[in-house]
Amino acid sequence: MYDKSSDVYFELLQKKLSQIKKPPTRTKRSNSNVSESDRLTFNSHFESGNLGQVRCINAFEYELYIRPDTNNQNYRLWFYFSVSNVKKGQRVLFSIMNFSKAKSLYRLGMTPLVKSTSRSNWERIPERQCYYYRAKNKNYILTFLFEFDIVEDEYFFSYCYPYTYTDLQKFLFNIERRSLSYFKRELLGLTLQNRRLDILTITEAENLIPENSKKKQTIFVCARVHSGETPASFMAHGFISFLISDHPHAKLLRQHLIFKVVPMLNPDGVFLGNYRCSSIGHDLNRFWLNPEEWCHPTLWSTRQELLRLKSDPNVNLDFFIDMHSHSSATNGFMYVNHMDDTRQEQLIYPKLLDVLAKEFSFSDTRVCRDMSKIGTGRRALGEMLQVAKHCYTLEVSFFCFTQDLSKHVPFTQENYINMGKNVAMTFLEYYKLAPRSSYKQS
Ligand SMILES: [Zn+2]
Repeated sequence: MYDKSSDVYFELLQKKLSQIKKPPTRTKRSNSNVSESDRLTFNSHFESGNLGQVRCINAFEYELYIRPDTNNQNYRLWFYFSVSNVKKGQRVLFSIMNFSKAKSLYRLGMTPLVKSTSRSNWERIPERQCYYYRAKNKNYILTFLFEFDIVEDEYFFSYCYPYTYTDLQKFLFNIERRSLSYFKRELLGLTLQNRRLDILTITEAENLIPENSKKKQTIFVCARVHSGETPASFMAHGFISFLISDHPHAKLLRQHLIFKVVPMLNPDGVFLGNYRCSSIGHDLNRFWLNPEEWCHPTLWSTRQELLRLKSDPNVNLDFFIDMHSHSSATNGFMYVNHMDDTRQEQLIYPKLLDVLAKEFSFSDTRVCRDMSKIGTGRRALGEMLQVAKHCYTLEVSFFCFTQDLSKHVPFTQENYINMGKNVAMTFLEYYKLAPRSSYKQS
């Protein structure tokens, strides 16, 4: 499926990029009189880790600086690092000094996540221990207080629940080895740093035999074009897990529809701990109109595959859904293409999803034709594939959904996974494959 380009520039660039390593966290020299042995040890030199610099003010106060995206200084939001060499009962104030965005869910009570041996699941730091404010130099700063409870432990702090490239590879490997007749994993391409671009096909095997098949409705879903948007991966995870399950509704969906999934469009950015960009510092979701094979190989391969599906006489490419996460909005919601169609057929799917998923809000769904979004998957592919009516960006908040009109409920990993399941379930009603009474809101 994948034909590696022999272009000499491609090979040179690839060689150069494969040498890009994640830089270790640097400790800035400071005037503090805390001895080396008493200082906390910071580390972000692991997959998806991000912390650029640390400044020790005193034994109880540290300033932290996010490392900007690789080759792009404009994006600083995602962080993920560990702290060790702590004392029992030591209380420390951490201040994250250099966010690139001012508008933040921290204003609504979002707090960083923490995990350690004594807390094996990610936990939110209590809101009363966090403070988000504007400094004199106009930068926005997040300060949070943490008390270490066990000495011989490593504490991990993160912007949101991590979901790494390796997490995805393990997930897909474990499905693949079950040899399911209705699941196929293929290599669609390689990234500039030689990571896999996976594409999955989920449907009953007979749907893929040309002589047997009537023209099948095909749903194309992708995620993680923006590398730090980890909730998008949990949604894709839930979508895939449900579709390959033994649930009678999953069977029904596989019988009638073909699902194509590209679960991670920017594996290099995910590995490097970038918030948004690829290894060469490009926001890939602005290049769908005209991706270059040599510098946007994952986009280029995915676009080629979409064009192939469009021309396949056995396929009716009906939906394109691009999964993202939002850093300043609440709930799940969709961006929908503006159409000069008074029936507004493009709003039917989000209305149905709203009925099924408590985390999703139809009233937050936005119809837009913003010129700055012209290179996004939703806009560019809608026109190219002539599926503009069903070309969506699916957003989900990094923080919370609202319940009972005003109560903010922080998202858990399970909520995101449940959203993904409901994205699949909604096609039951959209294509009238099962009566609504046979499933209920979950
Ligand atoms: Zn995004």
